Amino acid sequence: MHIIDIHCHLSFAHYDRDRDRVIEDARKALEAVVTSGVEPEDAKKALEIAREHDFIHVTLGLHPIHVDELSSAEIERYEEFISEHRREIIGIGEIGLDYHWVKDPMKVRRMREVFTEFVELAKDLRKPVILHLRGETSSSTEALEEGLKIVVDEDISHAVFHCFTGKPAIAERICEEGYLISLPATIRRSKTMKTVAKKIPLSHILTETDAPYLSPVGEERNVPQNVRFAYEEIAKVRKMRVEDVDSAIMKNFSEFF
Ligand SMILES: [Zn+2]
Repeated sequence: MHIIDIHCHLSFAHYDRDRDRVIEDARKALEAVVTSGVEPEDAKKALEIAREHDFIHVTLGLHPIHVDELSSAEIERYEEFISEHRREIIGIGEIGLDYHWVKDPMKVRRMREVFTEFVELAKDLRKPVILHLRGETSSSTEALEEGLKIVVDEDISHAVFHCFTGKPAIAERICEEGYLISLPATIRRSKTMKTVAKKIPLSHILTETDAPYLSPVGEERNVPQNVRFAYEEIAKVRKMRVEDVDSAIMKNFSEFF
């Protein structure tokens, strides 16, 4: 098996007391892990972790919930920092829209502007984008619709919709545009995600944990090796061997990044 977690946050404080052990366990179980830096300080930590471990790759972005904490000058400096480290990163993200946490109209406007700026940065640097698009409720699609429109309008060739919880119909449209969908390990508890995993082409699926969040086993803290639950569920709903899902996702991963 060559299982891959395309999105987690090994730099977060949840791992401060035992990060080395968590990484060692991940190394034994996984072929590759992509850790994502979500704001300037976190980005430095994420880069450091990736430098120390060759199976850990890094993407850098500005999570929509952090936009409000930074001035425009700070964001500009952060974009320069990312450009300077372009050779160390495999993508821009996570970036996007979050209508669950950001509701104030002024803040929403700035969140959209900054998202578009980072999409343009990805284009300049020729990197894929990792999208965080969260609606006000789990069933609302406005963030997904809007995010999809932005990457299409900006002519982005490589985008992955991280932790996809939307309906099959929009998942199919995303795939028709040539983009990928990343299914989290919590798929085991979600009927909608299972339907998505069955309906979209296997060539458009990636897998993730979003650790330390979204534990599929009810534990407080998630870890990258739990991504195997996503593989197992995808294999089950598609009536395939886990090994075949594994080689397909390996191929998708190396073609995408
Ligand atoms: Zn994340």
